[in-house]
Amino acid sequence: MTTFKNLGLCTELITAVDCLGFENPMPVQEQVIPFVMNETCDLIALAQTGTGKTAAFGLPLLNLINSEKKQTQVLILSPTRELCIQIANDLKNYAQYMSGIKIVPVYGGENIISQIRQLTEQPQIVVATPGRLIDLINRKKVKLDHVSFLVLDEADEMLNMGFQEDLETILQSVPDERRTLLFSATMPKAIEQIAQKYMRDSKSISIGIRNSGSDNVEHIYYTVQAANRYLALKRIVDINPDIYGIVFCRTRQETKDVAEKLMRDGYNADALHGDLSQPQRDSVMNKFRIRNLQILVATDVAARGLDVNDLTHVINYNLPDDVEIYTHRSGRTGRANKKGIAVSIIHTREHNRIREIERMVKKQFKKENVPSGLDICKRQLFYQIERMEHVQVNDEKIDQFLPHVFKKLEYLPKEDIIRRFVSLEFNRFLDYYKNAVDLNIPDKPSKDENHKSQKERNCENRNNRDKTSKRGQRIRMKINFGAKQNASPRAILGLINDITNDKSININNIEISDKFTFFDVFADQSEQLLNAFYRNNRTSFEIDIAKESKKQRQYNNEGHNFYENARKRAKSDKSQKRDKRRRNKLNKKRTVSAKFT
Ligand code: AMP
Repeated sequence: MTTFKNLGLCTELITAVDCLGFENPMPVQEQVIPFVMNETCDLIALAQTGTGKTAAFGLPLLNLINSEKKQTQVLILSPTRELCIQIANDLKNYAQYMSGIKIVPVYGGENIISQIRQLTEQPQIVVATPGRLIDLINRKKVKLDHVSFLVLDEADEMLNMGFQEDLETILQSVPDERRTLLFSATMPKAIEQIAQKYMRDSKSISIGIRNSGSDNVEHIYYTVQAANRYLALKRIVDINPDIYGIVFCRTRQETKDVAEKLMRDGYNADALHGDLSQPQRDSVMNKFRIRNLQILVATDVAARGLDVNDLTHVINYNLPDDVEIYTHRSGRTGRANKKGIAVSIIHTREHNRIREIERMVKKQFKKENVPSGLDICKRQLFYQIERMEHVQVNDEKIDQFLPHVFKKLEYLPKEDIIRRFVSLEFNRFLDYYKNAVDLNIPDKPSKDENHKSQKERNCENRNNRDKTSKRGQRIRMKINFGAKQNASPRAILGLINDITNDKSININNIEISDKFTFFDVFADQSEQLLNAFYRNNRTSFEIDIAKESKKQRQYNNEGHNFYENARKRAKSDKSQKRDKRRRNKLNKKRTVSAKFT
């Protein structure tokens, strides 16, 4: 097995990586460290972010520079100030046991004078963003004539951000005999052109497949109506109570809207976008880095500088226009050998985009169903129970209060205590998802199904849509059996069981008034009930869909359309009811006449 020791690094660096807890070199380090140390040509490395590239170039460069010479020997370019600071900090950590090494980061949005002051100390390593470096070159405040290594980190990002011209100016400002190490997550044409123009005898290495996503990332997608994106997002978050992720939006406005809605709905979220001032952006990023924030809603540009390793999820609230942006987004999870999930919320017309991205990243995407309200409630319930099981109990502190607590609760049986404790948090989910509709819409037919006629497919889709759109929703019904006729919940349930002969019909939320009883039933069972009562001649009770009460309309945001449809359907059932009344009358007449014959 390759170790840092047998890669030829000096003992100071080995001690440092040991201290940082790096046990073995990562694949990019196994390839790049010996190459930089032993070869003389340039390098083009296709490597995702989070694969350990900073140490891959940082360790051998620290090993190679002459700490006694007070000259800038290494220039590292990074697309954002955050990455710039990150690289400089990483290098300082690797160099912590070396003496005489000075590393200076220079980046925009910060006082240039203090950076100029640091540059006068002739650091051996300068880490810079292109714009600020150009400014310093123009002011003649940075000396690049002894640069023997130029590193272009996240080169594709630098081009995406419009730094091509700056990059070319910088490439012309460093000595021709330097070695160039170019790192990029993707290899667009413009990078190949830069490499051809400014690099010599370059060796190309690829960590992972060209344009591929990290192996540690699972790609999944959910298909919903475009108008249901936000509801789907909430369900994805709710089914993953431990989520720590970034939700990518296309525009600043969308970012603000989604973040505001999430905050208003009680999620631990915030927005990161270009309309924020630098201190505001720093504050949001810091909160996210230290996990004070669980969900960051961001534009691609704003999230560029964010370097976080433990993201569980990256969520594409909208698919990006560019497949390379998808690669960047998803590369933010599954880093440093951890597993991650890249989620895309799409609408039906975007399936082709998913296929296109699949081809590019060479990964198959898994279609998942947006979780139902019931799934979420179950997950949240068990999450709470797990938290309770694993909570650390501070016996010393809590023991003094417990006798009072025990005394206060002594009248409650254990089951009741558990029930109440669980309800404290859980009621919120139960209430919210009480009337949750199914947000899924069926996929387009697969290739195997293409031989079916369009008519057949339309018919199947309609049936599927009907089935899926109804399941899980609750609908309010009424029956003309009220307190005046001695109705009770038990009598109602007995009557329904009797008429339908189906114990699986799920009735709840029973409300009895003088003349009527109202109750909730699953939408797909409501039709079964209507039919059973209609067909049954033994009962004079009639069942119908209740008018939507104001309270229910409030709960029923999600189920509103279905509710309206059901009411329309109920209207058309009126003629059937008229028939039933006529038939009942006829039966009575027949019975009467039978008695007399
Ligand atoms: P990078 O791609 O350079 O941003 O690195 C991603 C993360 O991997 C950083 O947090 C590094 O500290 C960490 N890392 C780099 N090399 C190793 C290694 N050999 N073993 C464990 N973690 C590493």
